[in-house]
Amino acid sequence: MNYHNITKDDMLNGDGLRVVLWVSGCTHHCRECHNPQTWELTSGIPFDNEAEEELFEALKPAHISGITFSGGDPLHPMNREEVARLIKKFRKLYPNKTAWLYTGYLWEDIKDLDGISDLDVLCDGEFVLDLKDEKVHWVGSTNQRVIDVQKTLETGSIVLHNT
Ligand code: SF4
Repeated sequence: MNYHNITKDDMLNGDGLRVVLWVSGCTHHCRECHNPQTWELTSGIPFDNEAEEELFEALKPAHISGITFSGGDPLHPMNREEVARLIKKFRKLYPNKTAWLYTGYLWEDIKDLDGISDLDVLCDGEFVLDLKDEKVHWVGSTNQRVIDVQKTLETGSIVLHNT
């Protein structure tokens, strides 16, 4: 897997201050995507051991609320295995912090993938320019959902995260 960046103290991609891993690879190609430079799987640099150490080290401070997987699409088929491994490792190392993930896929199509059940929040769906709304929290267009993963799995129907 390749990635573009690890941002720290990020306030725009989930609750609190977060560490965000921006992975490479996205097939959705939404109109006016903010990160088209991440679409190619081969863009960015390899997510190697050094990058993984940097990621998990950045999550250590008490003021960090958790990790957010973004991109690109962390659930691009070529990223799924590696991202699932990272979600599980995060869950083990930081049981009291939260894991968020942004994907262009719909919940219904990816809910059974490995690692999804260890997330706290999943923001789903492509960015749709015609539905763009500055007022919706954490996502760019009103079709996208900020899903409370644990409650959704528990109840069997979509429960949105309280924003
Ligand atoms: S899913 Fe996200 S990264 Fe992919 S094209 Fe759409 S907005 Fe861009």
